[in-house]
Amino acid sequence: MSIVLSIKNVDKTFGGLHALGDINLDIEEGKTHAIIGPNGAGKSTLLNCCIGRLIPDNGTVEFEGKNMIGMQPHEINHAGMVRVFQTPEIFPDLSVLQNVMIPALAKRDGIFKFNAFKSLSSEKALEADAIHILEDMGLGEHILKHAGSMSRGDKRRLELAMGLVQHPRLLLLDEPTAGMARHDTNRTIDLLKRIKERGMTKIIIEHDMHVVFSLADRISVLAQGRIIASGTPDEIRGNPKVQEAYLGG
Ligand code: ADP
Ligand code: MG
Repeated sequence: MSIVLSIKNVDKTFGGLHALGDINLDIEEGKTHAIIGPNGAGKSTLLNCCIGRLIPDNGTVEFEGKNMIGMQPHEINHAGMVRVFQTPEIFPDLSVLQNVMIPALAKRDGIFKFNAFKSLSSEKALEADAIHILEDMGLGEHILKHAGSMSRGDKRRLELAMGLVQHPRLLLLDEPTAGMARHDTNRTIDLLKRIKERGMTKIIIEHDMHVVFSLADRISVLAQGRIIASGTPDEIRGNPKVQEAYLGG
């Protein structure tokens, strides 16, 4: 068993608010690890501490053995830790294909050398990969459309494709089905299951318990900035502390 991400003793305060207290978490290679917990529990804060958008007050975040604390978000992204969602950052006036080519080229070139518009026409291999991923996401027929003209569910799948073209070593999903109708949620679950079959390591933050129990190998429950339980889906389902804090039992 190999650990891709190791979070150790992470604390984060905002003024007087203790948003995260002594978080310890290991993410195993190839697994889907769900983080659940009520609103305001600290889930997004924890993710932001991992990807360099926030700096913890204490503790370390090791990705593939290397401490990421102090690194810039784009450097962490380039190292292979890719976050999608809760930041709907598509380019509505560009085509769907151009939208996925931008992160694909940024990944290849590094953010500083990157000139998306100059390179767009010449990158056949990357383009073939991008088209393949879009087809896989069920967006094959939309490739030449303006991204902004697509349905909400398709836009969110585009965001997922923009993450996948970077071939992340660790994919972090912040509420991938938030705001989706049941039909779109089920489609997204199927897509994420397929990604999982290919062995990609994932952290998924999710409110929808149907999504969590469909996808997770392990679940950690966050409440008031602390991990109150970690285990397999069956262990979490049966845990009375979790029922009390979250599942409303
Ligand atoms: P979750 O994602 O689990 O809903 P968050 O991580 O967004 O929770 O927030 C955890 C707590 O930290 C909340 O009480 C929230 O109001 C607070 N918080 C989050 N970000 C900030 C910030 N930038 N400044 C001040 N307080 C924040
Ligand atoms: Mg959140």
